[in-house]
This record gives sequence, structure tokens and C-alpha cells, in this order.
Amino acid sequence: YIMKFSEIVGQEVAVNILKKAIENNRSHHAYLFMGPDGVGKRTTAIAFAKGLNCRSSSSDGCDLCDSCKKIENGTHPDVELIGPREGGLTISIDQIRKLQRRISYKPLEGNWKVYIIDDAASATEEAANCLLKTLEEPPPQVILILITENIYRLLSTVRSRCQLILFRQIPRTLIEKILTDQYEVAPEEARPLARLSSGSIGRALYYLERETPEFGERLREIFETGGSLIGGYGSLFQFSAEIPRDRESTLELLNFLLGDLGRKFVENPSILKQKKIEIVMETLDLIKRNVNVNLAIDGMLLKLTQAEACGYQD
Ligand SMILES: [Zn+2]
Repeated sequence: YIMKFSEIVGQEVAVNILKKAIENNRSHHAYLFMGPDGVGKRTTAIAFAKGLNCRSSSSDGCDLCDSCKKIENGTHPDVELIGPREGGLTISIDQIRKLQRRISYKPLEGNWKVYIIDDAASATEEAANCLLKTLEEPPPQVILILITENIYRLLSTVRSRCQLILFRQIPRTLIEKILTDQYEVAPEEARPLARLSSGSIGRALYYLERETPEFGERLREIFETGGSLIGGYGSLFQFSAEIPRDRESTLELLNFLLGDLGRKFVENPSILKQKKIEIVMETLDLIKRNVNVNLAIDGMLLKLTQAEACGYQD
């Protein structure tokens, strides 16, 4: 389910910049969308493609014309989304080379060819260097949109050639409202889901779709009773052992932990919390780079325990 600009919530700044670019016909050749997972980066990129190519010349995209409909269905010949292949972890050089072959042709139906590169930081080094060539000499009528959670995982040379657009975490109250208004979730269920979401609609929906209330219930229990205790981490990952210890679930869990630590850090900053955040981020990065999940988690638990034992100020 893809939306147009006016239906995207919580990302007014990003949306306004992009709408203005369409209205003034002053788009950049390359954009870098950065923000947490599940806050609407991909949706916004597709809405941008609609607005750029809409036949009714509406910067919002009309959602009715042939072009908007094709983009919505993923069948528009000038709009393409690439990312790590199904089940894979990286964007390969072959994928980038194929993109480069097609990119040099003029748009077939629209005004602009739009290439959306999801999880751009997952490009292999070769692929990233290959992509850099396109960014250095962008063909006319082409707009590239790179999507990432962390710009520092991209080559600085890639970063510097893109216009950065920041996406923010969505406020908890807004997520609650979206869940109740758009997804018909009962308010008493929406509240804890919004709390668990770490500012990401995608994550709230992920928990909702799992349809296991005890999952959220237990996660909340662990964080409320012992988020900063060693036992807290122990029970968290003991709990995680009960759910499939696959990469995706583990990444979810770490993202959740990171969101929770981040919130606590904002409320009451300390060196210990900062250390913990660094340790979790490092672990997330390792797992994304295909390091063995169990090894990465064991290493993280050890480091967290050591950080607490070191007596950093909390
Ligand atoms: Zn349209």
C-alpha cells in the first residue's frame, strides 16, 4: 500500500522540501534519505516519483492518472526500486551495472527516470564505487534516491554528491493515532504498540502483525523491570532465544533495545548509557555485515556486562 505525499504523516519537513523541488522544477540529481527504519523513507521516495511524473502536474501526485497508477503497481518503466536481493544482504555490482545500462536511455513515459536504492549502505565496495561513477556524471532526466539508516556507512564520496533529506522518528502520540485511525487498532492496544515502536510505524505494524500479544507484553515487562540491570539483558536474550534466533528477529530486538537506550539517554544522559548505545550499534552493524548472530550477541552481552562492571557514571 503506497501513499502520496499528502498521506505521509510525521515527515512534513522532508515532504515539503521534495514538493517544492517538483513545483520549482529544481530537483537534485541525487538524494540521500536518512532516518530510522520504518518511518516512511521508501514511501516518500515513491511519492516523490509520483509527483515528478504525474500527468496532472500535481506535485502531490494525483493517484488517478496512468503514471501514478503504474508507479503504485511497480510497473512504471521509468521508476525502479533496487535493494538487497530477496533474502540477500548486499546490493551486488551486477545490480548496479544493470542499473547503469538502463539509466542512459531517455525516460520512456515520464519526465524523469527515478531510481530508488533501498538500504544503499548494503552495497558491496565494488558496487558502491560503481554507483559513484553515476553520481559523478549523472545523466539528464535521472534522479537517484539512496535510502539509508546511517549515512556514515556510505562512502564519503557518495554522501557528498547527494542532497541529504532527514527523516525523523515519529512521535509516540502520532503513532498511536495512526494505529487507531488508519489500522483500526483498539486504543488500549495502540498505546503499548506505540511505546514499543521506537518512533517507527513500520515497527509498530510489525509487532501488530505478529499477533502475539505476549511478545509485546513480555518485552515491555523486561524493559520496565530491569532495562539497565545485567539480569535485564540476560532475560531479554533468553527471551529472544524463545523466538527464532534469525537475523531479522535479532535485528528487531537490537533496534528495540537501541530505541529504549536512546530514550533513556535523552531523559538522563550518562557515560554508561553512551557506552551501551555504542556497544549495541556496533553489534547491529556486525550482524548486518553477516557476522554469526550468536557470536555477535554473546560478544555484546559480555561487553555490556563489562561496561556496567567498570563503574562508568550512570
Ligand atoms: Zn498522477
